[in-house]
Amino acid sequence: MTLRRSWVASANSEATDFPLNNLAYGVFSQGSNPRRLGVAIGEKVLDVAAIADEHLPFACPWLSDQRGWNGLMEAGPEAWEQFRAAISRVLAEGYSEAASVAQHLYSMHEVELHLPFAVTEYTDFYASRDHAFNVGTMFRGAENALPPNWLHIPIGYNGRASSVVVSGTDVVRPWGQVKGPDDALPRFALSRRFDIELEIGAIVGTPSQGPISVDQADANIFGYVLLNDWSARDIQAWEYQPLGPFQSKATATTISPWIVTKAALEPFRCETPEREFELLPHLRDTRPMLYDITLQVTLSPNDGREEVIAQTNYNTMYYSAAQQLAHHTTCGCPMRSGDLLGSGTISGPEKQNRGSLLEITWGGKEPITLESGQTRSFLEDGDRVTFRGAAKGDGFRIGFGICDGTVIANPQPVEVTYSD
Ligand code: MN
Repeated sequence: MTLRRSWVASANSEATDFPLNNLAYGVFSQGSNPRRLGVAIGEKVLDVAAIADEHLPFACPWLSDQRGWNGLMEAGPEAWEQFRAAISRVLAEGYSEAASVAQHLYSMHEVELHLPFAVTEYTDFYASRDHAFNVGTMFRGAENALPPNWLHIPIGYNGRASSVVVSGTDVVRPWGQVKGPDDALPRFALSRRFDIELEIGAIVGTPSQGPISVDQADANIFGYVLLNDWSARDIQAWEYQPLGPFQSKATATTISPWIVTKAALEPFRCETPEREFELLPHLRDTRPMLYDITLQVTLSPNDGREEVIAQTNYNTMYYSAAQQLAHHTTCGCPMRSGDLLGSGTISGPEKQNRGSLLEITWGGKEPITLESGQTRSFLEDGDRVTFRGAAKGDGFRIGFGICDGTVIANPQPVEVTYSD
């Protein structure tokens, strides 16, 4: 597939995340003006509501939805397709009324970006075999690295929608109950093993009641974002058995501000890997359900330069978002429009492909040395972590923008009293 040209010059650059082939959806504001729905095109954001009456051939009542793009999601797949086609026509090279549309383009640099949709629920999975193997090896040894269920179901836990924040939001280091291997008793302490998880979030567009097939699940997905599932490893280690992560994952989950639609990613579908055990029929793929999306993690210390600490690809996952969504519904669990499903940390087979510091530094035992000479086992206050991701076509890329956050010191636990 090749670049589709736009009359917005910056959209035709090989380097932009947002060519006409992408058309990612976000929510922006300028100064103290109210929030608006925007479509990313090159270095610009199109104010969709401002051009709708004159340039779209149908009514879009959901454009005034204060939640973000939830209204379009709820309108269903036909509306998704119709809207994408109409916006694509308006921004394509040769559009006769481009001059009138151009008045409603804002520079990316002059707008503030907000959460692109209201997150109704959030579930997080654990679907990278390399990640599960690495973590399992650290905790249980290589022999028993993968839990016995792992090759049969995409395992996950129900997270919190309330702590999902947009890229650029500072993340305050959490306090919590921890107990080190040499401690006789637990203590209440500042997390010292605060970490990232490189993930992709799938957004459910069409709601469901009762079990759905993998095909139906794929059809119900609206789009994808980059996702950082911030994780306090010391809190997690003490609390996680037997019910799974709780406070260790509830400080914040950061998502990128642009929803990349399933339609934009369509040319980049790829197969899930060969199965060690054939999956039960309700979880089997019927066609390629993963995407070829290269991913990169950088770390920028407070007083140092940004440097790459990991690179991997979403195509290495064992389970697709469609399989995770189908599995989520098997018990009859209803899914809602605006449900967010985290893929689980995305790691690859090589050391440089690891999507968390837990793996990169092997539980803190092998700290990394930054260009400045500083070392890192886990995140320090002031560290900024940035994710980037893109599917790469012939002369263009379908990018996600950035997903980043800075860790902020938290010297005193707020509204918690304790004695030691
Ligand atoms: Mn996670």
